[in-house]
Amino acid sequence: MPEGESVEQVLTALASKASQCTRCALAATRTNVVFGEGNPKSPLVIVGEGPGQQEDATGRPFVGRAGILLDECLAECGITRKHIYICNTVKCRACIVEGSRVRNRPPMPDELKACFGWLDQQLEAIKPLVILCLGAPSASTLIHKEFRMLAERGTWHTTCKYARYTMASLHPAFILRHGGDAFQTYRSLLVGDIEAARKKVIQARKDAKVDLLQ
Ligand code: SF4
Repeated sequence: MPEGESVEQVLTALASKASQCTRCALAATRTNVVFGEGNPKSPLVIVGEGPGQQEDATGRPFVGRAGILLDECLAECGITRKHIYICNTVKCRACIVEGSRVRNRPPMPDELKACFGWLDQQLEAIKPLVILCLGAPSASTLIHKEFRMLAERGTWHTTCKYARYTMASLHPAFILRHGGDAFQTYRSLLVGDIEAARKKVIQARKDAKVDLLQ
């Protein structure tokens, strides 16, 4: 982080630069670059996959149906958007145009690679204690390349250079694609993982104090 600049100043400058980004083909179809928002001094950062239709239209992360579900799950753990910082692995909407229909698609490896510089600078500025990845693209970018969500979700990792502890959970958009019992099961897993992240922040703060004394 540039000397003498606050994290807010650094993120504002980065967001302004990113708003002009044309590093990958997603620039051609986006409405807004969705850089991220929340408390830049938060010890907990949530990193999702990429913007959907509502996010692209508003420039804000997690504001569509998936965002509403995320907010509900956060609230069950006593967390609001003011407490955390939320961003995505890819900052522009990845979509497929089929006639008059536009539908979301997962970001491609070259798009993830092109966009990584923004996430890198963002996390370097925030320096969270804990990162919760939502969805496989985020986990494979920040935890390890071969990440398998159903096998490894809910497991803490200490290999990510941006935070002391990193874990991945299910993306709310994935949960919304299910109904009935599966929806409830997956939703409960996400709430449990958010609660685990909240508790991990408390542990990480204690760890950091011990480190300072050593
Ligand atoms: S997705 Fe990322 S790299 Fe691609 S244009 Fe948007 S901000 Fe730039």
